[in-house]
Amino acid sequence: MTQDFEYPEEHRLKHLEKPIKTWTGTLPTACDTCNNGLKSVFYDARTHHGVWGILCRSCFKLYGLGLGIGYGQEYDLETGRKLRG
Ligand SMILES: [Zn+2]
Repeated sequence: MTQDFEYPEEHRLKHLEKPIKTWTGTLPTACDTCNNGLKSVFYDARTHHGVWGILCRSCFKLYGLGLGIGYGQEYDLETGRKLRG
């Protein structure tokens, strides 16, 4: 038997949620690499040059090493919430 019926889906999911990480400080407006304005998301990521910086989506694709601890994080530009990484 499963006890699932005792717990609405939402309730169970709350226990699985990880704490939401949010960008602290002023949200960036431009990419450190190409200086273009950021759109919808930005990346705090390590590049092939070994430097960390704020990257736009296209620079992250070109120069980013990937997502994850020690590599890079993807943030929502509007809310500063960490999305991935
Ligand atoms: Zn860029």
